Amino acid sequence: MPPFSPSSRNPETSIVSAQAERQAGAILTVDLGAVRANYRLMRDLSAPADCAAVVKADAYGLGAARIAPALMQEGCRTFFVAHWAEALALRPLLPAEAALFVLNGLPPGTEIQAAGAEGIAPVLNSRAQAEGWAAAAQARGRALPAALHADTGLFRLGVPAGDLRELAASGLLRRLDLRLLISHLACADEPDHPANAAQLSAFRAARKWFPGVPGSLANSSGIFLGAEFLSDGVRAGAALYGINPLPNRPNPMRPAVRLQARVMQIRDVAAGSGIGYGHDFIAPVPMRTATVGLGYGDGWPRRARTAAWFEGARLPIVGRVSMDSIVLDTSHLSRDAIGPGALVEFLGLSHTVDDLAAAAGTIGYEILTSLGGRPFRQYTDEGYGFSREVAAIQHKS
Ligand SMILES: *Cc1c(COP(=O)(O)O)cnc(C)c1O
Repeated sequence: MPPFSPSSRNPETSIVSAQAERQAGAILTVDLGAVRANYRLMRDLSAPADCAAVVKADAYGLGAARIAPALMQEGCRTFFVAHWAEALALRPLLPAEAALFVLNGLPPGTEIQAAGAEGIAPVLNSRAQAEGWAAAAQARGRALPAALHADTGLFRLGVPAGDLRELAASGLLRRLDLRLLISHLACADEPDHPANAAQLSAFRAARKWFPGVPGSLANSSGIFLGAEFLSDGVRAGAALYGINPLPNRPNPMRPAVRLQARVMQIRDVAAGSGIGYGHDFIAPVPMRTATVGLGYGDGWPRRARTAAWFEGARLPIVGRVSMDSIVLDTSHLSRDAIGPGALVEFLGLSHTVDDLAAAAGTIGYEILTSLGGRPFRQYTDEGYGFSREVAAIQHKS
């Protein structure tokens, strides 16, 4: 495996960021090349359907301002965010031909300014939102862009079937530039779950009321459910960022993040000493420990007492995870092998976001979005996460 050299090919690495990196307690390196490779895989699996990128929550914490332009280079022209503010921040970074949809739709009671709405299309999630957007279109004398969300059985957002039929009959939506009819799967990561087929047939029924409007149903996991789920477009999120869209099967995606923490202190601990809050861990024998600058304040789950890695050696976490620090057992390293300033790896190619999620009793989505805030973030274009089992996954034509 080649060494991970995050900054070697990054033209933006400046003296300033090198300094910030040296001072950082935790460093999150995002491999844009891996994200791009993941996009290409999803795009090829979904073709001829349009593969949109879901970049909500700042691209699952990895930085939408870097992720979206990188995906543009791979030909992605359709993007989804969750909030209107996310769309306003992203719109100036995208060329005019890119479509940008807001999944959470129109914020209730908010008057969307005409200027702000330029090139941003809400996903209309209720009859009231559809009526409001149609009225705005009429007031402005032009067809405003929109997507319509049919709820086919998630009961979260979206227009229920009865309202949908009435909306279609009312002709109200003719005032809009209706670009997509979407729906969202509840159990896409469980291929045998009967809800998938039920939602597909409800989606097909809903599409009959909006002839000529392209459909979009599948998220990352949904893309693997079979060709009939691909419709005219898909919405890939998690898989682009390396999260396994196929739970309990080999991950076809490349890992896209590396998380490292810097050693602040090395300590010799006498047998019988309690380490960390609550003295939750008592050294059974004399130990040597390293205290590193990563904690739950950086998004590391407090309950995940896993390990870090240093030059192939596993360093178990001892005691409780603090807000700003974690203590590692380095007893089996030689005395000079590791010292203050050294970087240890908490997430990488062989210990992934999904592994950590399993240890913490959560999902990779929550791990990634939690890590997006405090750690120093840097980008590489190496793209060297390895694509496994890719050949095995192909839709029957
Ligand atoms: C978040 C989201 C997606 C993306 O789902 P992934 O599982 O991350 O691929 C797609 N559609 C909707 C409506 C979403 O909320």
